[in-house]
Amino acid sequence: MPTIHLRKSIDGVPESATLAINEKSAELIAQGRDIIRFGLGQSPFPVPPTVVDSLRHHAAEKDYLPVQGLAPLRDSVAAWHERHSGFSTTAADIVVGPGSKELLYQVQLALDAELVLPSPCWVSYAPQARIARSPVAILETTWEDRWRLDPDRLAHHCAKDPGRCRILLLNYPCNPTGLTYTPAELAALAAVAAEHGVIIAADEIYGPLQHAGHHRSIAGWYPEGTIVTGGLSKWCGAGGWRLGTATFPSELKEVRKAVQAVASETFTSVSAPIQYAAITAFDGSEAIDNYLVHCRRLLTALGANCVETLRTSGVGVHDPEGGFYLLLDLRPLAEPLAARGITTGAQVAEGLLEEPGVALLPGEDFNRPAGELSLRMAYVAFDGAAALAACESLPADAPLDTAFLERTCGPTLDGVQRIRDWLTGP
Ligand code: PMP
Repeated sequence: MPTIHLRKSIDGVPESATLAINEKSAELIAQGRDIIRFGLGQSPFPVPPTVVDSLRHHAAEKDYLPVQGLAPLRDSVAAWHERHSGFSTTAADIVVGPGSKELLYQVQLALDAELVLPSPCWVSYAPQARIARSPVAILETTWEDRWRLDPDRLAHHCAKDPGRCRILLLNYPCNPTGLTYTPAELAALAAVAAEHGVIIAADEIYGPLQHAGHHRSIAGWYPEGTIVTGGLSKWCGAGGWRLGTATFPSELKEVRKAVQAVASETFTSVSAPIQYAAITAFDGSEAIDNYLVHCRRLLTALGANCVETLRTSGVGVHDPEGGFYLLLDLRPLAEPLAARGITTGAQVAEGLLEEPGVALLPGEDFNRPAGELSLRMAYVAFDGAAALAACESLPADAPLDTAFLERTCGPTLDGVQRIRDWLTGP
């Protein structure tokens, strides 16, 4: 028998909860169960056709590309940020990687830093810190405060150990809450981070899906200390293409170089055809702008519809502002749930999967306290290509009413009804 000693930092790190729920849902579907999948946050929309054509056109590109990424792609990404995120950067400051997830991990590997996470936050940050052996500090936020990190809380935390190298991971629009920060709130957080020398890793993967189309990066207020990550996975519907970007200020050049060094010894570079096709995506076009307008229009209408139905069950939920997530506060239902022997978010998630067949995740997977009565749902259970085509065929100012959503996003509306009926049930 071979001798196995798993590393302590890896031992006990489970497979990412979102990927696990996706596999569990697929298994149940294979057994013939009718499951609505609100677990994995994957864009329902197709990759814009011009971008797919570009990939086809570049299929024969076969050479290893520069570790930092193809130079014209980095130019396109810089111009994209100028147009879509409101800050200036240059090709020299950008690194292209196989997904922003990997780049965020490599930033953690590069820095001997404490990782500061607002709770709730995306599932992978804390496990990545564990693998990279970085200490984690969780800063609480509240439902009542719309899950926003209070700058005073950040200041208070930083004052405890002033000289420490810290990374604040700020994700907005946010997975799991679907909420974002206003410019004034970003400015206030930026001021505290600058005062305390905190590096901000701004995970802006959902920026282009801010429902009103007004995403602004915190890098605009704290250019010298902000690393911005993004990529094709969400706004371009291309999660499986695995292309992410990280933008470093020149003041953090050493961090960028460390990331490139690690990249050069690990993944080398992102697949060549994907990088060429990504130029078409980031260069944008009228067709791509139009695609984004309709993706946002659909997500806005669908999010509002889900919230309206869910609230009739007594669930607490904020109006979403970006991306395709809702964080449900089930505390108002604590009593009737307890009468059914249900006291935790995980039990609710289990019940919803087993009984009406709806897959979603408990808040504790997103760094909420263990057992908290909260759930995250990704409202992406519909045929995005058909819905987008139907949306595009309507006049620009036509409202997307319930009848339209029933026709185009039926499984999502069905899933939300199932949640409501189960929560208010016997
Ligand atoms: N950050 C957040 C908040 C996400 O939701 C995701 C994908 N679920 C990622 C990063 C990872 O994106 P990528 O595909 O670029 O690795």
